[in-house]
Amino acid sequence: MKLSFIGAAHEVTGSCHFLEACGKNILVDCGMEQGKDLFENQELPIAAGEIDYILLTHAHIDHSGLIPLMCKQGFKGEIVTTFATADLCNIMLRDSAHIQEFEAEWRNRKAKRSGAPLYEPLYTTQDAIDAINLLAPVDYGQKIVLSEGISVRFTDIGHLIGSASIEVWLEEDGVSKKIVFSGDVGNIEQPILRDPSLTEEADYIVIESTYGNRIHSEERPDYLGEFTRILRDTFLRGGNVVIPSFAVGRTQEILYFIREIKEQNLLPEYPHFDVYVDSPLAIEATSVFTKNGRACYDEAAMELVDKGINPLIFPGLKLSVSSDDSKMINFDENPKVIVSASGMCEAGRVRHHLKHNLWRPDSTVLFVGYQAEGTLGRKLIEGAPAVKLFGENIEVAARIESLKGISGHADMNGLLEWLKGFKSNVSHVFVVHGEDTVTDEFAQTVTDTFGWKAFAPFSGGSVDLATNQILSEGVRIVKQKADKPMKVKAENAFNRLVLACKRLMTVVMKCEGMANKDLAKFESQIQNLTDKWNPDNWE
Ligand SMILES: [Zn+2]
Repeated sequence: MKLSFIGAAHEVTGSCHFLEACGKNILVDCGMEQGKDLFENQELPIAAGEIDYILLTHAHIDHSGLIPLMCKQGFKGEIVTTFATADLCNIMLRDSAHIQEFEAEWRNRKAKRSGAPLYEPLYTTQDAIDAINLLAPVDYGQKIVLSEGISVRFTDIGHLIGSASIEVWLEEDGVSKKIVFSGDVGNIEQPILRDPSLTEEADYIVIESTYGNRIHSEERPDYLGEFTRILRDTFLRGGNVVIPSFAVGRTQEILYFIREIKEQNLLPEYPHFDVYVDSPLAIEATSVFTKNGRACYDEAAMELVDKGINPLIFPGLKLSVSSDDSKMINFDENPKVIVSASGMCEAGRVRHHLKHNLWRPDSTVLFVGYQAEGTLGRKLIEGAPAVKLFGENIEVAARIESLKGISGHADMNGLLEWLKGFKSNVSHVFVVHGEDTVTDEFAQTVTDTFGWKAFAPFSGGSVDLATNQILSEGVRIVKQKADKPMKVKAENAFNRLVLACKRLMTVVMKCEGMANKDLAKFESQIQNLTDKWNPDNWE
């Protein structure tokens, strides 16, 4: 009875835990590493063909994205997950394979010209289809016997449609232990999805810590009001609202809000405005939501369903699947909303819509999600005066706005609230899926709050579950940085201003933990300065 930590150990992405019990080899999640990646992951100690089961908490690629690679390497077991996650995997793993193939093709075109060796995609569409064929979905709340001595149950954790925490009961050589994997813990009061369900019993808990040291803002922003204001302002100017959005999850929330805006007639001046969803993946994901509504929706969404209303559909909603449909959107001259992927503007159809709208002072680009450093989305939010798209220089004249407020993850209090649900004597908590030091900090918080032993393993760390003995804390191997940090030339005044802002941000990050009074004073000074210099306020 042994648990080893492979991925998302002192990191946020690449979730993967390896459980050995009752003669079976089980992976819990098998995710791809994305974005910032600090440490080297240890190899799985066994071949892919020797894995019997993969238990999957949810469909996000940082939890599911390497399953097709396992299939390519010989995995033939079952992938046990919820019905909605299985449906999402059906589209997301194909999409992921498509991206891998596309990138390989692009690299190989270059390689052929330069005579470099050819590049093999990480996995292909066929590998993704092989994975999809191994999906064995179960209902929430249903305790199933996986094999002799091993039972599992999936509980709604409210992070993404189909997302679950997984309870695993083990019985081997007369020893019984129960381990609970949190998966990604959802935020409370999100649209569409239910709040995370609690679990009462565990000997061991493996918990994520994405926001393990942060607290979401106390006041919940008036999302609907802000959204309506942005639509009204843009339509009054005669422009379009382009929303770069993640295809799965965030797009459906946007549709949910727009339906409410229309239903409550919050924009009486423009009751019939059109909304284009221009992303085949988003359209497929929306139908996964509709299909799985009864199993996954919260009360408010279910109330609509019971009245025969689809909470994600409304008059004026137009779905464009083919690229011809997509191009036609630009011929519609009426003010409209265009929701398109990718969420950070790095790829996908949204780039075409940016090309057609960024130069228009009457249009708005509305960001609804986190924009990672180095992405086009981040550049726009930071006020880039011009950007390059399809080799063309495009002036940024459109308004750039962001709607903050919806995070798919619980904050520190939410995580502690979920842990509070456990009524049994917890022997050990293992903290994963957080930024490097955050995992350690949250482990300390857990011990301080509950008196439970808690620790954040590095990759390769392992624990004997029968005796509650830590066999290894794992190894901390820092990844070699592939690319050099971006250098900003300090020659011109604008660049010096950008550098000054970076310095300000460094100082801000150092202020965490300072007295609230001082933080508020600092904040108000920054707000005043920003208001003074914001060109939008000059008109
Ligand atoms: Zn997730």
